[in-house]
Amino acid sequence: MCKKCYTKCSVNSIRLINMKISFHGAAREVTGSCNLLEIEDKKILIDCGMFQGGKTNEEKNKEKFSFDARELDAVIVTHAHLDHVGRLPILIQDGFKGFFYATPATIDLANLILEDAFHIMSYDAIKFGRSVLYDESDIAEVMSRFKPTGYYKEHDLGGVTFKLHDAGHIFGAAFVEITGEGKKIVFSGDIGNVEMPILRETDSIPPGVDYIVCESTYGDRIHETADEREGIIQKAVVKALKKGGVLMIPAFSLERTQELLYYLNELIDRQKKIPRVPIFLDSPLAIKATQVFKKYPEYYDRDAKNLYLKDDDLFNFPGLMMTQSSQESKKINHTPSPKIIIAGSGMMTGGRILHHAIRYLSDRVNTLLIVGYQAYGTLGRDILEGKSPVVVMGERIKVKCRVKAIGALSAHGDQKKLMDWIAGGPNMPRQVFLNHGEPMASENLQKRLVKELDLRVTVAEREKEYKL
Ligand code: ZN
Repeated sequence: MCKKCYTKCSVNSIRLINMKISFHGAAREVTGSCNLLEIEDKKILIDCGMFQGGKTNEEKNKEKFSFDARELDAVIVTHAHLDHVGRLPILIQDGFKGFFYATPATIDLANLILEDAFHIMSYDAIKFGRSVLYDESDIAEVMSRFKPTGYYKEHDLGGVTFKLHDAGHIFGAAFVEITGEGKKIVFSGDIGNVEMPILRETDSIPPGVDYIVCESTYGDRIHETADEREGIIQKAVVKALKKGGVLMIPAFSLERTQELLYYLNELIDRQKKIPRVPIFLDSPLAIKATQVFKKYPEYYDRDAKNLYLKDDDLFNFPGLMMTQSSQESKKINHTPSPKIIIAGSGMMTGGRILHHAIRYLSDRVNTLLIVGYQAYGTLGRDILEGKSPVVVMGERIKVKCRVKAIGALSAHGDQKKLMDWIAGGPNMPRQVFLNHGEPMASENLQKRLVKELDLRVTVAEREKEYKL
């Protein structure tokens, strides 16, 4: 209809508002983040991550996208975790011609993560006949199409604009504010825990937001408080070391590792609350990721910045050994206990932690300390749920060591943090979509948001389209 004469003439016509979102992963589950926003005449993808854990998820990664990658105008990447970047090279294979937008730190880290994923896939292909989703040339093409995008600057995609804000989740992580059709929508990516070392706090929701798509990994959980955190880590480490065995910590290379090093540095070197024992950082990926942390001190929070300015190496201290080569890694076996081994991958789905698991899981004197989210179907989740024996790289291993999980180091905000964040903007959103959570977690958060904040909340379904 025409704005002026109110007839069907097409001059000055009011376009029908056509804004849709659909979820192509991480809906009623945690991994595989991939959200499509159709706004104005643009198609924008927010993240394109890998499904992780178990055979079913492996199969999902091979499924064709239900959208046409050739029609996408832009892809915005919130952060470098594999479940947010792992399927980017498939977009290239499917003919995506546009750019990927992310912070400079996310770009550097995404490169490491994609190369690591490729090496793990190649290894698994030889050893277990699994499929390799893409090759190194696809990854190189992704990297050449990244546009470094700083926080808080408005970027124009031709009628639609977007802005990145600090999500406080991992280094370089962002949540995205997108404006078009006179409406504003925020995609959380992943929202960080409170008062984590090194990282800045999560930014508040900007004004005028109509819709929020929010993760709900820990939508039904309350973490230990930030004040308790150091004490909990100290207790867990001291208890494990007193047994005289090996303390294994499977850690995500992009954040938990650096935070663990920061705490261990604090507790061993500065406060002398943990006895000095050999500590091995047995993860080439984590060692490289630590270099990226060193490259961008402008992203540090105040305390980390102060230490950095005093020339204190935040991620290194006497007794810490970084084992880059597999030769160096093998030497860990000959170092007498007690000792601490931090190795990837975080959910024990690959990486050097598996070699240590084969060696040390079956001895009561050892401890496995779980410090991050374990997706359904992963080895980490099986052990956490008390399964024994478990199959590690084709070997059946009895789990006799102590298994302890702490939420204190989680990179994700808990239920309280998510509620505070959603309701923390100057106005309440019209509608909230919850993704990136197992059904129980998302539904629990939904109930509380509806009951206490009177919000309209939808738990996102995979492949379903929602008109806004
Ligand atoms: Zn994440």
